[in-house]
Amino acid sequence: MLVPKHKVLIVRCDAYDPERIAGIVKQGMQELGARPSGRILLKPNVVIAHPRRFPHAFTRREFLDGVISAVKARAENVKEIAVGERSGIVIPTRYSFKQAGYLDVIKRHKVKAYYFDESRQVPVRLSKPGRLRDNVYVPQPITECDYLINLPKFKAHPWCRVTFSLKNFIGLQDDRHRLVDHNLFLEHKIADLQEVIEPKFIAIDGIIAGQRMMLTPTPFPLGAIVMGTNSCAVDTVACHMVHIDPKDVAHLRFAAERGYGPMSLDEIEVAGDFPLEEVQERTQSFEICFERIDDYFRDDGNLTCTVGTFPEEHSPDYCWGGCPGALQEAMHIFKTFYPEPEKRMKRIRYVVGKVAGPLDLEGDERVIFAGNCTSWEGRIGGDAVKIESSYKTASAVDERRTRSHDMLLKMSKALWNCARKRSSRYIRVTGCPVSVAEHLHYLSTLGKIKNPNLEPRLMSMVYIAYWRMRISRFLNRFLRITLR
Ligand code: SF4
Repeated sequence: MLVPKHKVLIVRCDAYDPERIAGIVKQGMQELGARPSGRILLKPNVVIAHPRRFPHAFTRREFLDGVISAVKARAENVKEIAVGERSGIVIPTRYSFKQAGYLDVIKRHKVKAYYFDESRQVPVRLSKPGRLRDNVYVPQPITECDYLINLPKFKAHPWCRVTFSLKNFIGLQDDRHRLVDHNLFLEHKIADLQEVIEPKFIAIDGIIAGQRMMLTPTPFPLGAIVMGTNSCAVDTVACHMVHIDPKDVAHLRFAAERGYGPMSLDEIEVAGDFPLEEVQERTQSFEICFERIDDYFRDDGNLTCTVGTFPEEHSPDYCWGGCPGALQEAMHIFKTFYPEPEKRMKRIRYVVGKVAGPLDLEGDERVIFAGNCTSWEGRIGGDAVKIESSYKTASAVDERRTRSHDMLLKMSKALWNCARKRSSRYIRVTGCPVSVAEHLHYLSTLGKIKNPNLEPRLMSMVYIAYWRMRISRFLNRFLRITLR
């Protein structure tokens, strides 16, 4: 019997014009037979957003605007249309939605916003062979929706190579659960999340794509909207659009192996008005950053990295899902605030993994021992130093008993740790992973450069959003009342 191929559309669109986007997406839905109904939830990528500092990190407001118009035109028997997301690096999603310009769009279309960091988190039982865990926690609106529409941003990613439809599911989880397995098991975690719910329609914002980093990508005018109804098929085509072999994207490989969809173009019908070959011609210079930190910071001023070995058999040479990538993103965040932080900072050695032998430090060089898996023994400035690993493998971490990762708590802990060790030559930073925000604190303290986390204008707005989030979370979780 002939198995029908999954269809993926690549359609030209070179401007953030909501009307044009609405027309393209409506036509795409027709061609793919997508007919939203019931409780419809749109999941964009708003990992971080700011019109000036992070303009290319998130699904653009005009894109969301156009998709909502298309959904309204195509939908039937609608009970609710909502937009839901959890931003990254512990920033309240309310703040990110405001910075992304979503609040006007949501208000104008009279749809609902779900801030997943304020929602009740409910366990979902997993059963697929090959899963990492038996349960994952997701926000209640995800378990209640009838029709999930995934709206990723087309971006490179320093941890996973790329982020398209499958990877966008990391934004389903709140901070308490998001950082569980966000380490050597990140790619397995992404595959696990696919069992919670399958999107029924996917539209990737590839009008201006993001290169290299995921929080601070450089723009690339790709001029495309990619649409489909299967995440693996859409991600496979998106990989080929930027010359990546889908087999090299581990979460796509895992998802395909677990039966979520294809990862071969032979099983996909690629259509639309933008031929794949022409896209590939345009993306000859598209930049991916998938580099180890000891190479990445080799010639980069006063930060050098010593990378050891790692405690899981599937990736003993490097941890692609945790601390090293967070260091890269943190250094790029400094750059959005002022130029050349790597030259302004005092000399820092960043040590991660199990490291043996002397570090051969420069006279004034200070050391960050980052992450629970890090161990080292030797002398620093004449003192004997012993750093021991406290790493726990996935099966030893109980996802039901996780830490809150509250923004204020994390910040207080990091600042206290920095104050306590301000005159020491080294600092031990625990966590698996150590987050991007924590990296900013430690690098700025040891390197004596300005801390973007403490920028007054930025922080005053983040704090207002933080307290609204806390109040709303309380009302939502215990009294079932939602603040607008
Ligand atoms: S501590 Fe950091 S580097 Fe080590 S396994 Fe965990 S996330 Fe990876």
